[in-house]
Amino acid sequence: MCGIVGYIGNRNIADTLIDGLKRLEYRGYDSAGIAVIVKKKIISIKAVGKVSALSAKITPAIRKELSSSKFGIAHTRWATHGAPSERNAHPHLDEKGRFAVVHNGIIENYASLKERLISQGHKFVSETDTEVLAHLIDDCYEGDLLQAVAAALKKVEGTFGIAVISSENPGQIITARRGSPIVIGIGTGETIVASDISAIVSYTDKVIYLNDNDIALVEKDNVDLRNIDNVPVTREIAHINWDPGAAEKGGYEHFMLKEIFEQPEAIANSIRGRLDEEQGTGALSGLNLTPQDLATINRIIIAACGTSLHAGMVGEYYFEDLADIPTEVEQAAEFRYRNPIIHPGTMIIAISQSGETADTLAAVREAKNKGAIVAGICNVVGSTIPRETGRGIYLHAGPEIGVASTKAFTCQVATLLMMALKFGRARRLSRQNGIELVADIHRIPELVKKVLAKSKDIAKIAKKYANAHDFFFIGRGYLYPVAIEGALKLKEISYVHAEGYHAAELKHGPIALLDEKVPVLALANNIPGKDKIIGNMQECKARKAPVIALATEGDNEIRRHAEDIIWIPECSSETAPIPSVVALQLLAYYIAKERGCPIDQPRNLAKSVTVE
Ligand code: GLU
Repeated sequence: MCGIVGYIGNRNIADTLIDGLKRLEYRGYDSAGIAVIVKKKIISIKAVGKVSALSAKITPAIRKELSSSKFGIAHTRWATHGAPSERNAHPHLDEKGRFAVVHNGIIENYASLKERLISQGHKFVSETDTEVLAHLIDDCYEGDLLQAVAAALKKVEGTFGIAVISSENPGQIITARRGSPIVIGIGTGETIVASDISAIVSYTDKVIYLNDNDIALVEKDNVDLRNIDNVPVTREIAHINWDPGAAEKGGYEHFMLKEIFEQPEAIANSIRGRLDEEQGTGALSGLNLTPQDLATINRIIIAACGTSLHAGMVGEYYFEDLADIPTEVEQAAEFRYRNPIIHPGTMIIAISQSGETADTLAAVREAKNKGAIVAGICNVVGSTIPRETGRGIYLHAGPEIGVASTKAFTCQVATLLMMALKFGRARRLSRQNGIELVADIHRIPELVKKVLAKSKDIAKIAKKYANAHDFFFIGRGYLYPVAIEGALKLKEISYVHAEGYHAAELKHGPIALLDEKVPVLALANNIPGKDKIIGNMQECKARKAPVIALATEGDNEIRRHAEDIIWIPECSSETAPIPSVVALQLLAYYIAKERGCPIDQPRNLAKSVTVE
């Protein structure tokens, strides 16, 4: 969601800022802008739509004019307050044009601040909450930019990641965070500020992650870090090992397709070194749990949003079936606001690909306040949730750029399975059961490869159903969450209305919507629940709905119940969600492609949802 880039150094400023914004495009946005100071004057250029529209506005003459400047800030906006328009796009300036601000997040008390500032004579031009920051900084300015920004931020409620420049303080960028990530990349003779390391990796591997309420004065070869009370703080310099090439499309038409096909490797990376074949258990030292913890945790709550929430739903089955631990899955926003009951022995698992999801992070904080053991399952190394939980598991899936999550989901499910195995072995599972499960988990990458090999068949089925307006996905047991996730994938990227239901739930209402134009995809793999789902498929057929089945290879009987079949290799119940969801990712992808949708950047969606 929304992106910030700031740069100080010797490169061409316009090119560098635009390059940074392009690397953040995957996050989802609706407008973009840059601000650069030339001859003590802020020049700001903005455009609605893609970064390419902004770049087109930077003519060779403008580029030349800007090139005398060595620092600037840039932004991709995902509108929260005020429609996506040039006027509302960032950077925002005070009316004297001395300060330019880019901001991610929401200033919750902006209305009262704005009212006061207007009564003092400030003139606003946008409908955004962000603009109050520029005027507030102007109000607080007495010659020291860092002090002015800190004083302004003290008056603000809500969340922010910001970067600020001033025509009065050449060669300085002030950056700060509360609730919205900021990373500073330390290069040689250059410094980059960004909301996400993807804008930094091609310049340097040395980064500083800001903590909440940190503020930094950034210069070409210096970073002065303070907290908002002006007390110097030290943050360690982290080294990122992220191959910049991993964030390229590598010959695939879309990042999403590339990431779907990367899954065998991504899952192999997630499980590498994390299984103990000898003892038949998970080797997950990042969880930091003693054998006693493993034996005494008596309740698990999984808090997450979106696709991660669906992974959590699969996890619920794992923890209950394998480890006998009562487990609930909660939408993270609901968890944070409904005063959850947490007793000693309750463990919270927060799942977030980005590690920055606002509601999930808030759930982590709420759980910590209540004394729970909190662990994170995240992909982005060094992101806020892993840093705040201090225990957890990184997916090692590599950068996920496609807005619709694919490889993060399958790696999350594999990780939850390894966790449940570890708990299970500490409680009730025999070594023999554990060893069998370890072998099953090792087979997952191969199972996924077999599904990927069927992509052409899946594309054919997609073509047949690409014009449907509505779709149902039904499943049971381990495949019930997969039905919901399959429906989510389809709606996210193809804009087809799709609903995922428990197969038994269909006749409690939704069946009223079925007719010959509404396909039903049934997860009818040969695992417990299959006999029942065949009955549910018949109910759909009786209402003339075309039925597409996911079925286990060799299960010829299924042909009698479905018009089209996507074959999934034979596997255990525990691992079945992974190859099955891969088939549904491909189905959604090919339907979206048939419909001509912008697959990597679906409308209205953002990659990491950093506002609540
Ligand atoms: N709330 C701000 C706005 O609507 C910032 C949005 C963003 O994070 O991009 O302009």
